[in-house]
Amino acid sequence: MLTRQTFEGCLLGLALGDAFGAPHEGGPLERLVWRLIGTTRHGERRFTDDTQMSLDVAESLLAHGGVEPDDLARRFAAGYRWSRGYGPGAARLLKRIAGGATWQAANRSVYPDGSFGNGGAMRAPVIGLFFADRPEALVEAARVSARVTHAHPLGEAGAVLIATATARAALGARGVAVAEAAAAACDLEPFQTRLALARDWLASTTATAPPTPDAVRQHLGNGISAPASCVTALYCALRFIDAPFPDLLAFVASLRGDVDTIGAMAGAIWGAANGAAGLPESQLSRLEQRERLASVAARLQTMCAARGA
Ligand SMILES: [Mg+2]
Repeated sequence: MLTRQTFEGCLLGLALGDAFGAPHEGGPLERLVWRLIGTTRHGERRFTDDTQMSLDVAESLLAHGGVEPDDLARRFAAGYRWSRGYGPGAARLLKRIAGGATWQAANRSVYPDGSFGNGGAMRAPVIGLFFADRPEALVEAARVSARVTHAHPLGEAGAVLIATATARAALGARGVAVAEAAAAACDLEPFQTRLALARDWLASTTATAPPTPDAVRQHLGNGISAPASCVTALYCALRFIDAPFPDLLAFVASLRGDVDTIGAMAGAIWGAANGAAGLPESQLSRLEQRERLASVAARLQTMCAARGA
């Protein structure tokens, strides 16, 4: 049975990785915009679409007790704000849903082959926690929750990878065991090749220096597609699983690229493994909507515990 500490650690870790990664994301223009809008009137760090959509998934699960794609689509569309840093494709898609299109039609009108961005994966940690005790249901739930906006097989596979890794970390697995569980659940390329490399890096002894940020960026990626970010986030979370949380975020920031989403996914896995008590109060106290995140996490845990009983 997963504890409240685990649920809170996962959601708050995700939000911290997102909110503290966002100022480092993208090019000079994106960083300038975020410097202007990245804090609330009260001086708290704002989170981006990664956390907003994770809250949407969590609140939909609470309302329905399972993954309901039509409800997810409505919540994603209602939660959309340009100032949360949604990608241009996601923005178009969500506006079409808000205008009355079905998610299936909106989705394919923007991405004829489905999107393989990391937007399905970034909100998948919540799915991993909710289905941690039901591995068969987890894979399908992750796919369906991603499909609403990310219908390409690679977009769905990224969500399966991150949900599986979060579940395994929450259940106490570490290092190579988590990477191998992810590889068993996600058999597409280039995920397989990248997972094999990440596993080798995690398994290597201290005799060799760990890979530099340049090497991680080059071999695992730092981009906005699922293949260029999901294994990166998994690797970072596992490499720093016994280190202080800020060390993880500093390494993720050093990769540049899609720092908020890689930070969100890595932060969620780290938080699921270590619990909310492991997260730094100095960052939590500066995070917007901390109480709402903790409350949603606690209610999800209660629902899962009641279901298991
Ligand atoms: Mg974002």
